[in-house]
Amino acid sequence: MLNIALFGPPGAGKGTQSETLINDYNLFYISTGDLLRQEIKNKTKLGLEAQSIISAGGLVSDEIIVQIIEKTITENPDANGFLFDGFPRTYIQAYILEGLMIKLNTSLNCLISLKVPEKVSVERLLKRGQSSGRSDDNETVIKNRLKEYNDKTLPVIKFYEEKGVFTEIDGTQSVENVQKNVKSIIKKELSKRLLNIVLFGYPGSGRGSQGRAIAKKYGLEYVATGPMLQEEISKNTEIGKQIKELFDNGKLIPDDIVVPLIEKKIENSKDVKGFIFKGFPRTLVQSYILDGLLKKHGSAISKIIEIEVPTLELIKRLDERSKTEECMPYDSSTAKIVQRLQDHETKTVPVIEKYNELHGVVKIDGMGSFEEVFKRVSFEIENGFENLK
Ligand code: AMP
Repeated sequence: MLNIALFGPPGAGKGTQSETLINDYNLFYISTGDLLRQEIKNKTKLGLEAQSIISAGGLVSDEIIVQIIEKTITENPDANGFLFDGFPRTYIQAYILEGLMIKLNTSLNCLISLKVPEKVSVERLLKRGQSSGRSDDNETVIKNRLKEYNDKTLPVIKFYEEKGVFTEIDGTQSVENVQKNVKSIIKKELSKRLLNIVLFGYPGSGRGSQGRAIAKKYGLEYVATGPMLQEEISKNTEIGKQIKELFDNGKLIPDDIVVPLIEKKIENSKDVKGFIFKGFPRTLVQSYILDGLLKKHGSAISKIIEIEVPTLELIKRLDERSKTEECMPYDSSTAKIVQRLQDHETKTVPVIEKYNELHGVVKIDGMGSFEEVFKRVSFEIENGFENLK
């Protein structure tokens, strides 16, 4: 998710800038001011409570703000990210936002402040008052709004400065120049983020070949446990010897062997744009491990994709592969193929279901040529990750 808050006094240009940002980055717009005006228009209990405070240029209570924000956020769990305008407006609201973001397993990426002197704010608001129809765009109320901003809203900056996600822009520049500045901050933020994809699919669904090609196309590190284990065997390392023995006896490789290998891979991968995981996590336990591993490195899963192929087609593909040079030791007999399909169904399908409930899993039709499926997967990856295009 990409979550941004536009900050600044009334009249700083937050609403104007928001219009382009929500389209360009496919963000869900949350303006607490707009939401409150809507409540007033609908004459709801919240609206009636807020009305007199807004008309006087005061700040409505944090309780009211929590209710309207929480409702909007929880009604849009699939959003690509949120753009907050007019929130957080108090130090307490900064904590509230933290809590809401944790609930969505995400965080605020940046708070961008549009700095304008009081004189400019007043001029702009009075001008807007001529056409906005807003009862709070008049001189007396504007004064009060700015006082509230100075007393209660400005301290929010400290909260985000300490978190290291605060940036400031000269808001007196032209709309276009402010926009350029805002976008360059967001671009920088996007390029910092790792794009971590988990690729699921039954054996034979093409996740290996698609995963490798996707990694190459987007500069991601391909993390596949199977080849990693094979590599240890061929390097004849101490761990490799243990793995070989387990393989030879038809045993599963325990997590305390697999996990350090993945961790080593993550740590050794510098300058990558992210990771694409294939064949891991395979079990619910491993799904918790992956969350922990990424969190330890300040990151999280960005997207989960499942390539879907009908069972009969899977069997056909695996059977065909078993007759070629690409035949893996585990594809060499019908019994082994069936065992793998069954393992996926009993152990990995529950992981996909868990992820689907938590983050949503994008299902991709795995039928058709390699290129056709590759196009579908690429589309999904680019969707929402503008900087990859
Ligand atoms: P705005 O449209 O952002 O200028 O907001 C208009 C008015 O709504 C403000 O002057 C406040 O009275 C109220 N309001 C909007 N957002 C908040 C907030 N986060 N906390 C408290 N009051 C708010």
